[in-house]
Amino acid sequence: MRVLRRGDGGPAVAEVRATLTALGLLPPVIGTTDAGLFDQPMEHAVRSFQQQRGLITDGLVGPATYRALRDATHQLGGRPLAFMVSAPISGDDVLTLQERLLELGYDAGRPNGLFGAQTEAALRNFQRDYGLTVDGICGPETVRALRQLSPRARGGRPVLLREQERVRKAGPRLRGKRIVIDPGHGGADTGLSVGGVNESDLMWDLATRLEGRMVATGMESLLSRGPDQCPTDEERATFANEAGADLVLSLHTDSNASPHAQGVASFHFGTGNGSTSTLGEAMAGLIQRELAMRTGLKDCGSHPKTWDILRLTRCPAVRIEIGYLTNADDRARLSDPGFRDVVAEGILVAVKRLYLLGENDQPTGSFTFADVLAHELAKAE
Ligand SMILES: [Zn+2]
Repeated sequence: MRVLRRGDGGPAVAEVRATLTALGLLPPVIGTTDAGLFDQPMEHAVRSFQQQRGLITDGLVGPATYRALRDATHQLGGRPLAFMVSAPISGDDVLTLQERLLELGYDAGRPNGLFGAQTEAALRNFQRDYGLTVDGICGPETVRALRQLSPRARGGRPVLLREQERVRKAGPRLRGKRIVIDPGHGGADTGLSVGGVNESDLMWDLATRLEGRMVATGMESLLSRGPDQCPTDEERATFANEAGADLVLSLHTDSNASPHAQGVASFHFGTGNGSTSTLGEAMAGLIQRELAMRTGLKDCGSHPKTWDILRLTRCPAVRIEIGYLTNADDRARLSDPGFRDVVAEGILVAVKRLYLLGENDQPTGSFTFADVLAHELAKAE
């Protein structure tokens, strides 16, 4: 689809306007003159929507924003929901269904608004337990039953606890864990390119440093792309899912119109309305802490986002934006191979901490690669 921006007009703009109006973000237009114009109030409404949804707040309507807008128009009960293998149904109604099933104790997987096999399995279990027709279809009868049942105590965030339980059962060892390292961009897509430094090359180099350390500690690490390839985020997520990854780490650098913007930030799946990958959040927090402590980069925090690489992966996924290439200090740091070793070590230690889950409370920044290796070797005996 064409990216829509301020100043554009036509039926596609009119459709987006109608959606924003239905969501209460734009007042209804009186008369028809402005109905198809992407004006300033509409741009403001798009930004508000993007902010609510954890999308990049750029005021443009591209594929991700368009999809989120379309998803937002669906309310539970408005249409029947079922698992369509060839074209999975997505929308806020699916998200509500997943959250409702989770509240009731059914493992519908990560609430991501996408009706997949796990959502269907959870729905069937629910239907069986409540004496409904077990067809895996969320129709009027099922919606009524879901509405009648009062949720259990909220706040337990069962999906997160379940993810956490899985990690706990797997034990504190790194050995046997399968990590997908996802160096951003690649091939013809260099990502950011400032002063002869390409994001894609830097992240490829960092990924290989990380890969080496992970292999040394007994983890299986897979790269989501070759040096000259640039799969879409969807393809990267599919790769991780098909590989049965335990964790996905996506590596990028950031940019800003201001040369003063600098620092490191981490992102995990979350809608910003309380639906969050608990483990992703924990992983992002650990990585953020280690990197801020070890690298001297400004700490820009960790945040929930609904980006494809986070949304479509079934395992916890974290995207790290390591420094701003548009900032001279950050760029100089990133250009130094020794610095990239420090980053790789920080990420490795954060992964180790995730699997230790608080069992080993060495202060942030003090755990070394050698410590991790020694710990793994001791466990292996
Ligand atoms: Zn990037």
